[in-house]
Amino acid sequence: MSKKTDLTAKLLAKIPSQHPIPEPLADANLVEQGLYAILLRKQSPSEAKATLNKLRAAYRDWNELRISQAQEINSFLELGPKGIKVAADVREYLQEVFQRSHGMDLEFLKDDPQSTQRFVSILPFVGMATAHYLLWVAGNKELPVTPALMRVLDRVGLVSRTASPKKARAAIEPVVPDGQELEFAYKFGEIASRWCDARKPVCHQCVLVDDCKFGKKAFRDWKIQQERLEQQRVREAARLAILKKKEDERLRKEGEKRKKKEALEAEKRAKDAARLAKVAEKKKQAEAERLAKIKAAAELKAKREADRVRALKEAEAKKAAALAEAKKKAEQKRKEAEKRKLDARKAAEKAAERKKLEAKKKAEAAKKKKKK
Ligand code: SF4
Repeated sequence: MSKKTDLTAKLLAKIPSQHPIPEPLADANLVEQGLYAILLRKQSPSEAKATLNKLRAAYRDWNELRISQAQEINSFLELGPKGIKVAADVREYLQEVFQRSHGMDLEFLKDDPQSTQRFVSILPFVGMATAHYLLWVAGNKELPVTPALMRVLDRVGLVSRTASPKKARAAIEPVVPDGQELEFAYKFGEIASRWCDARKPVCHQCVLVDDCKFGKKAFRDWKIQQERLEQQRVREAARLAILKKKEDERLRKEGEKRKKKEALEAEKRAKDAARLAKVAEKKKQAEAERLAKIKAAAELKAKREADRVRALKEAEAKKAAALAEAKKKAEQKRKEAEKRKLDARKAAEKAAERKKLEAKKKAEAAKKKKKK
């Protein structure tokens, strides 16, 4: 074993596999091999095989399965609530295969290097570990060589990057421990997908950081950057604290000012209210006095009117009494005149009677004389 092979073995031991490395199925095409690898993310090998068989029986082709709803797929799988996630993975896998290959057939992985390179360049759901597994199966267990694998191995320091696939293979194969080809392709594929992004590798989280040439430097840079960020954060926190203190002081002063202003305004309002109350009281008194005067004048007027009416009535009564008295006196005079008239007539009648009587007496005396 060379030093690099030792290093490879050491690195492989450090890479935890998120999912079990699939064992190729004997009776499956490449789409099904990939589907089986995806099913192993949530199921045991025997469960995954059973699921694959159920799906084969339920669907005419994989495209029909791709456009089916997860609930419908799960109704065939009969896996209960857990089956929804399995069905969602199945759909997502088939969708990614369809989008990346424009079909539901991966057999081109066996003999079309250009299409293969295009296909494996972006596989966010399938991931490079499963992609390497598929290429390994497609290549009849030959070590797959992809740009992602070259990138990781170059950064780790196992092989130097080269644009020639032949040269790359020739450089890689000697560093792979015998019998660990699939594990090598699968685990380094996992490193490529999980941490070793082409543009932004997250070395500080990568499990290989302590043994990776590129990663050690990136990690140092990242730590320096973190320290700078921390210093910046501390400075920013101090600056914000000062600003906050100033702001608090400003707010306190503003608060005091506002309180003083409010107190002055309240005092002014109270004075205004007192003044207005006084004015209102005076007005009220003046109004009461005015009303009292009006009332007194009205009462005086009413009294005078009552006196005038009473005087008028008394004058009328006196006038009526005087008229009655005059009438009475006139009546009395009339009665006295009538009485006098009557008395005069009676006296005249008496005088006439007397004269008649005297005349009779004289006639009788004359008769008597004559008789004599
Ligand atoms: S440490 Fe960084 S460069 Fe090295 S393999 Fe991990 S992610 Fe890639």
